[in-house]
Amino acid sequence: AATAPLLQVEDLEAGYGPINVLHRLHLTVYPGEIVAIIGANGAGKTTTLMTISGIVKARTGRILFQGRDLVAEKIPAHDIVRLGLAHAPEGRKIFPRLTVRENLDLGAFTRRDPQGVAEDLEKVFTLFPILRQRQHQLGGLLSGGEQQMLAIARALMARPRLLLLDEPSLGLAPQVVVQIFQVIRELNRQGVSVLLVEQNARMALKHAHRGYVLETGRVTLTGTGEELLHDPRVRAAYLGE
Ligand code: ATP
Repeated sequence: AATAPLLQVEDLEAGYGPINVLHRLHLTVYPGEIVAIIGANGAGKTTTLMTISGIVKARTGRILFQGRDLVAEKIPAHDIVRLGLAHAPEGRKIFPRLTVRENLDLGAFTRRDPQGVAEDLEKVFTLFPILRQRQHQLGGLLSGGEQQMLAIARALMARPRLLLLDEPSLGLAPQVVVQIFQVIRELNRQGVSVLLVEQNARMALKHAHRGYVLETGRVTLTGTGEELLHDPRVRAAYLGE
């Protein structure tokens, strides 16, 4: 029997003011998957994640998460987090004037299980030892890579089943990018499904089980990470070949 999707997006339309950015978008994430969305600047990748996490309002369509329709039920963003769907925005969006520890505590703001939160803090510090060392420093004083780690760690403090990651490799040195993707793989092994958006198509497709190519708010290609890495259209448009 086929496994039920964890996340199923159907016919999704969203945008800003009079402008529609997403046009009948479809995508699916199955439990246990890492799924990548690649596409050019302005294709609508960030908007897709923001709409799924309830920050940008969907105009039409369905966002089914573990069987609940987030659009039809008009579930607000903080309740979406509570359902198990956390969003790590692009790395510079941490709170620079709060300490690392305070940033992490905010990631757990929806939770009422202090024991579980303490366990997850320990897990996050094991995953990112540098954050343990820096826990009393201001977020704004961290390096770009450390801020990205903090953004991911903060989202993990919600104990999500599905983690949305916006451009985890943006602006980072190549060895830091490798480290971030190793952590994503490790999280995934621990049972967290991941939907990530990347400009770094090669890295994203190398690590993703499946991927979607987004062009002006539409899915134009989909396949396994491997298939897309070898697709001549992807190679020409996104892999610089
Ligand atoms: P990038 O990698 O540049 O972030 P993207 O694929 O993530 O690209 P989006 O950020 O989703 O694309 O942007 C899609 C379109 O929506 C672009 O034309 C952008 O100018 C527009 N847009 C994004 N945010 C807003 C906003 N807050 N108000 C108005 N238009 C916006």
